[in-house]
Amino acid sequence: MKTIQELLAAGPVLGDGGYLIELERRGYVDSGSGREKVGTGRGSGQFTPEVAIERPEALLGLHREFVLAGSRVLQALTFFATREKLSRAGYGEKTEVINAAAVRIAREAAGDEALVAGSVSRTQLFEREGPSAANHVRELLGEQVDLLAAARVDFLILETFFRLDEMRIALECARKSGLPVIATLSFRPELARTSDGVAPAECARVMVGEGAAAVGANCEQEPARMLHILRAMRVAVDVPLAAQPAAFRTTETTPCFTRMPEFPDALETIQIARKEFEDFGLAARKEGIGFVGGCCGANAAYIRALAAGLQASV
Ligand SMILES: [Zn+2]
Repeated sequence: MKTIQELLAAGPVLGDGGYLIELERRGYVDSGSGREKVGTGRGSGQFTPEVAIERPEALLGLHREFVLAGSRVLQALTFFATREKLSRAGYGEKTEVINAAAVRIAREAAGDEALVAGSVSRTQLFEREGPSAANHVRELLGEQVDLLAAARVDFLILETFFRLDEMRIALECARKSGLPVIATLSFRPELARTSDGVAPAECARVMVGEGAAAVGANCEQEPARMLHILRAMRVAVDVPLAAQPAAFRTTETTPCFTRMPEFPDALETIQIARKEFEDFGLAARKEGIGFVGGCCGANAAYIRALAAGLQASV
């Protein structure tokens, strides 16, 4: 198998799609909407990844669908699998087991067709506790990176960070592991700056400076809207860009689907067509985006459409 750096050097790399929302739709994950005020970051186990031990066959099946669609990278379902977040869902003591199982299942589906990336995301502690949470955040992200390295992921994807300060901590933890890193921020509630106030171009420079092999954006917007963020990053850095847009329609005033009134219980009504992912594949090729996949709402049909777009543009 080629490394992620070799794949990136050879041209656009096709990633996978979103897991938690797709598995929620299939009945295997609880959206948590009945337990907390969604979007506040204050609730319990909203969209947590215990499906890796509760319903491993469902996760394996979804990974396999992405491989069939053409994914060359599978993300282990370790999103929101830090000890603190899992504790709020009642799975804190299973942190090691869940991270290890998620990597093992992804590897089984990947075989020699795809690389396996460990997914690391925001802890939500900055949103709940403010900057004083930094040391706790470092401890939690450091622990998860160590678990993923021990489970022998090929590289790390740091994703869905709303704040650059928390992303910096994640990059610091990732550097210690020696694993290659793709780093993507999620822009909410604005496209023009992170929630701690940093513009995309500056974010890109900082993430490259902190060692990321590719930088970009994931989640929250549909492809066409995310392109604005990626173009702003493009002028600032020379490394490959990475993009994993959501498959939900947002608006100029609310350019992030998790702030739309339809989240999470009416998402079907703002689902975009897979054709928009095919168009994004074309655009990605033209604009030199090196890593493309999908995030929330993007199942295998979307990844197949994205693959078609990437190929059509050659
Ligand atoms: Zn997402």
